[in-house]
Parts: sequence; structure tokens; C-alpha cells
Amino acid sequence: MSKHEFNIAVFDGDGIGPEIMAPTLDLLDHVAAGHGEFSLNYTHLPAGALHYEKTGESLPAESITAARQSHAILLSAMGLPHIRKPDGTEIVPQIDLRIELGLFAGVRPVFTFKNGPQVLSDERAATLDFVLIRESIEGMFAHKDEGQVVDNEYATETLRITREVSEQLFDFSFKLARSRARKLKRPGKLMCVDKANVFRSFWFFREIFNERAAQFPDIETSAMYVDAVAMKMVQSPWDLDVMVTENMFGDILSDLGAGIMGSLGLAPSADIGANNAVFQPCHGSAPDIAGQGVANPLAMILSASMMLEYLSEKFNCPQADVAGVALKEAALKAAAQESGRGRDVGGKADTESIIRTVRDYLA
Ligand code: NAD
Repeated sequence: MSKHEFNIAVFDGDGIGPEIMAPTLDLLDHVAAGHGEFSLNYTHLPAGALHYEKTGESLPAESITAARQSHAILLSAMGLPHIRKPDGTEIVPQIDLRIELGLFAGVRPVFTFKNGPQVLSDERAATLDFVLIRESIEGMFAHKDEGQVVDNEYATETLRITREVSEQLFDFSFKLARSRARKLKRPGKLMCVDKANVFRSFWFFREIFNERAAQFPDIETSAMYVDAVAMKMVQSPWDLDVMVTENMFGDILSDLGAGIMGSLGLAPSADIGANNAVFQPCHGSAPDIAGQGVANPLAMILSASMMLEYLSEKFNCPQADVAGVALKEAALKAAAQESGRGRDVGGKADTESIIRTVRDYLA
């Protein structure tokens, strides 16, 4: 059996970033060793707020090049609120990287944990499991550095939706709905989430969705306005399956999804393009708890498990998927234990205890 060697670009990040990254890499090595067929080599790349403070650069060109050449990218979180650019905004290398590498599909799975935080009281919440796909390189973020305040009287921003990116996004989403249907042994479904009742740009988005749907007759399609979806995510999220939406809507709905899961510390994500992919927790650098050893590493671990699934599919390495499933299952089991329940979800476990609990389930 030939062995796959995957080169992983690692951004340790700011705040709690390094605290959750290091033990996640140890767990990854453990599952890789246990499943054979593949190994992971890590290259740690400079970027982030502290790097910006030192050098004036938040995402060096060399880091982008190395990330581009890797098989996959793991990122914890970047940014610190007290480190800002002269215009008052924060550095956002995690967003710059998405644009540089054309990572058009932000994949945000939403599910609940056994014995996890009870955000929704309905018993059906225990089975909810859906995926939100956020377009990640255009929409309301396409011209993010060009917003204007004119004469201190009014402000403008520009939303951009292109046929090229939308077609890629929808094709990716239909394929994800198809592979999920296969894995879960149920019919595939995809919902377009937009605001096509008010904005011409979103009708264009919806029209492209409908055009691409013709190529995927096995997937049942629907469409819903974003405001109605926000309500549905709270009232009956167990009815949802795979949804695809614009960047800004996805930005907001994905945090709502993390809220349904019970904490940002539990919510993983992936940003996927034609050639590259970044895997990172949904949360930020949590400077309020950095250095205390209490960050919940589960979102980072679950993101690493998504990376293994991606490597498996992209490079035809079935054992990477098996390892990813094992890592995810260990994380879910750990979350159900006292020793795996972090302070962000009402428990007492610190980072080390949560990691140890996951590791015990992998043994
Ligand atoms: P945040 O996600 O860092 O923190 C929000 C709250 O959630 C805080 O109370 C924090 O303690 C808690 N939290 C987050 N992750 C946790 C974890 N793993 N375990 C336990 N508790 C956790 O959001 P913020 O405070 O708005 O932003 C802090 C910094 O992070 C800012 O500089 C922001 O720009 C940056 N940021 C980066 C990313 C990214 O890199 N993808 C995303 C969001 C924010």
C-alpha cells in the first residue's frame, strides 16, 4: 500500500490559537499513526495580529505561497482587538487568505452534542444536523476595503455576485448534498437562502441556482428568504439539511448555528476552493481567556477531522476519512463527559482535560 504524505500549512494564530492548535496536531498525529496509509507534515507559517505588530505585515506573501502549495491548511484564529490598522479596522488575514486562495465555499456544519448545552428545549433538537454553505469571497465582502462615508452624511458599500463564483459555489453545494445523502442514507436536499424578493442581485443568485439544479436532478431543491431561515433555524432546525447562501448572510447565520450548538468553542468550519482548503474553528482568538488554559479545543479538533475527510476525498486516501470519523466520534463522546465539558458550555474542564478525554476515546 503506497503511503500518502500530506503537507499541512499551519497558522497557529493569536490569543488562544496556539493553545488549541498544538494539542490538535498531537491528536492528528495519533490518528494518522493509528490508521496507516498516510502521514502529516506540518509547516508553521507566520501571520496574525502579533506578527503585524512586529513587522507591519499580517499575512506575508511567503506564507500565502507556502499555504497555496500545501495539501490543506489548518488555522486556529487570528486578530487581537487592541492591534488595529491606522484606519481603525482590525487585520483579517483569515479573510485575506480566503480571497487570495479563492476559497469560495465556507462549510459550517451545525449539530448538537449528547449531554451538550441545551440551547433549544425541544427534544428534536438532539437530532438536528444540517450544513450551512457560506459563499466566502464575494457578496457583501467583495469590496470590503472600498466602503465610503461621504461628507459625513451617508455611507455606501457594494455587493457583488458573479456568475463564475456562483456556479462554482452551487456545483460544490449540490455535490456536498449528494455525498451527505449517500453517507446518511437519505434523499439529498439543497436550499438556496437569499433575499430575492427585494434585491435584483439575489434574484440573479437564485436564477443561477435554478440553472445549476438542472445538472443535479437527484437533489431536491428549495429556496427561502434569509429572514425566514433565521426564524426557522431557531424554531425547527431539525427540518434543515444543506443550505447555501451569500457571504454576509452566511457570516451571520453561521454564528446563529454556533449558538444553536451551544458555543463557538464547539463549532468547526472549512473554507474550500478549487485547489486549496482552510480548516478552522468558527470562533476568534478569545483574548479574554487567552493564556489561562481554559479554551475549548473541540471546534479546532472537529475542524481537523473535516480536514481529514477533505484529504481523503481529494487525494483518494480512504484511511484519512476513517481517521477523521474516529477523531470526530472521540470529540463528540468527550463533549458528553464532565471531563470534556469546557467552561464555555457550563462545565469545569480545562483545555488539557478535554484533550485527555478525547485522547482516551481514541486509544
Ligand atoms: P471570539 O470568538 O474570539 O470570542 C467570543 C466569546 O467566545 C469570548 O467570550 C470568548 O472567550 C469565547 N470563546 C471563543 N472561542 C472559545 C473557545 N474555543 N473556548 C471557550 N470560549 C471561547 O470573538 P471576539 O471576541 O469577537 O473576537 C476576538 C478576536 O478574534 C478579534 O480580534 C476578532 O477580530 C478575532 N476573530 C478572528 C476570527 C478568525 O480568525 N476566524 C473570527 C472571529 C473573530
